[in-house]
Amino acid sequence: MPRALVIGGSVGGLFAACLLREIGWDVAVFEKSAGDLSGRGAGLGLSSELFAVMRRAGAEMNPAIGVPCTWLLQLDRSGAVLSRIERAWTAGIWSRVYQPLRAAVPNAIVHPGRALERVQQGGARVVAHFASGGTEAGDLLVACDGALSTVRRQFLPEVEPRYAGYVAWRCLVEEQFLSADAHALLSDALAYSFPPGEMSLSMPIPGRGDDVRPGHRSYYVIWYRPARPDQLRDLMTDRSGRDHGLAIPPPLIRADVMAAMRRDAVALLPPMIADVIARTEQPLLQAITDLEAPRMAFGRVALLGDAAFVARPHVAAGITKAALDAAALAEELGSSPSDISSALARYEAKRLTFGRALVAYSRKLGAASLAPDGMRDPERVMREYGAPHLVHDVERTAHR
Ligand SMILES: Cc1cc2nc3c(=O)[nH]c(=O)nc-3n(C[C@H](O)[C@H](O)[C@H](O)COP(=O)(O)OP(=O)(O)OC[C@H]3O[C@@H](n4cnc5c(N)ncnc54)[C@H](O)[C@@H]3O)c2cc1C
Repeated sequence: MPRALVIGGSVGGLFAACLLREIGWDVAVFEKSAGDLSGRGAGLGLSSELFAVMRRAGAEMNPAIGVPCTWLLQLDRSGAVLSRIERAWTAGIWSRVYQPLRAAVPNAIVHPGRALERVQQGGARVVAHFASGGTEAGDLLVACDGALSTVRRQFLPEVEPRYAGYVAWRCLVEEQFLSADAHALLSDALAYSFPPGEMSLSMPIPGRGDDVRPGHRSYYVIWYRPARPDQLRDLMTDRSGRDHGLAIPPPLIRADVMAAMRRDAVALLPPMIADVIARTEQPLLQAITDLEAPRMAFGRVALLGDAAFVARPHVAAGITKAALDAAALAEELGSSPSDISSALARYEAKRLTFGRALVAYSRKLGAASLAPDGMRDPERVMREYGAPHLVHDVERTAHR
C-alpha cells in the first residue's frame, strides 16, 4: 500500500487524508500545533462545492449548522436601507467544517505537535524531517501547511504573501448586545456599507457553543480599509516598537490604534455597525494578501490549499479551494496509482489554472469593493461577494 505523509492537520490536510485513504493509501498526518484546532474562525461562506467534497470525504455536514440569511442590505451612513436584494447565504463557523472532517480521520494516524523542518527526496521515496527530531518516509508528501508553508519555502523560497494595499478589521459581539431595532433589521441579512474607498460587511453567525437559535447567536463585522505601507507598519507595530509585518497577534494591537479605528467607525459606518465595533473587546486585524505559487508539484511533493494559493477574502473560498485541491489530487492518483509523478503533473496543471484564476478573481472583486465612489457599483459588489457560484465564476474569469 503506498504511503502519504500529510503535513498540516487543518482542513486541507484532513481533506487530503480522507480522500487518499478512500483510494487505498496509507496516510499519516503531522500537525505542528499540539492543541485543538476547532476554535479558529468565524463567518465562513459555505458553498455547495464544499458540501459535495465533504460528503465524498465521509464527513457529513449538516447544512442547517450555519445561520441562514435571506437578504443582502445596503445601508447608508445613517443606517437607513438604500437597497435590498434577495439572496440566500449561510454563515458558518470553522468548527462545523473542521470537526466532522477531524472525526472522519482516525486518531491513530494524526500526530499533533510535530512540526516539519525539511523534506528530502531520493528516487521514489520522500523523507520528512521533524523539528523535534525523527524522520518519516513515504511515497508522497502532501504539503497542507498553510500560507507560510515550510515546504513551499524550501522549494520556492522567493514566493511569499504579497500585501494587497488594504486591511480588514474583524469584530464580533453576542447578538443580545444589538439594539432591538438593529436586531430586527440585521438578523436575516448580510448588511453592507460603502464609506468612500472602504466597505463593511456584517452578518449573524453561530454563537457560543455553535448555537444558531435566535437570541443566542453572534454578530460579525468585517471592515475593509486601505492602508499605505507606512500606515500598515504603524498598525502592525506593537507598544514595544516591534513591527509584526503582515500579522499582529490581536492582544498586541496598540490601544491608540484601536481607539482611532473606533473613532473612524463612528464617523464612517452606520451607527449599529459602529456600535458592534465599539463593543468588541478584542478586534482582529488582518493584512489582505495575495499568494500565488508558480508550481504545485516537486518530484514526490505536492502543495495543497493555502500553501499554494491564498485568495482575498472577497471570494470566501479558502476552505472550498483546499477541498477541491484534495479531490483533484485523489482523483489523479486514483486514475494512475502506479505512476505518481504523472498523476502529480496532471494535478499541478489543473490546480495551478484554478488557483491563478481564483486569485485574479478575488483581486478583481477587491478592487471593485474598494473603488472610489462613482466607479463603484455597490449592488454588483453585494451580489458577487462570497462568489456564490465559485467554480463557474472563477472558470469564466480564467477563460476571458
Ligand atoms: C480570519 C479568516 C477568515 C476566513 N474566512 C474564510 C471564509 O469565509 N471561507 C473560506 O473558505 N475560507 C476562509 N478563510 C480561509 C481558510 O481558513 C483557509 O483558506 C483554510 O484554512 C486553508 O486551509 P489549509 O489547510 O490549506 O491551511 P491552514 O488552515 O492555514 O492550515 C495549515 C496547518 O498547517 C500547520 N502547519 C504549519 N506549518 C507546519 C509545519 N511546519 N509542520 C506541521 N504542520 C504545520 C498549521 O498549524 C495549520 O494547522 C479565512 C481565513 C482567515 C484567517
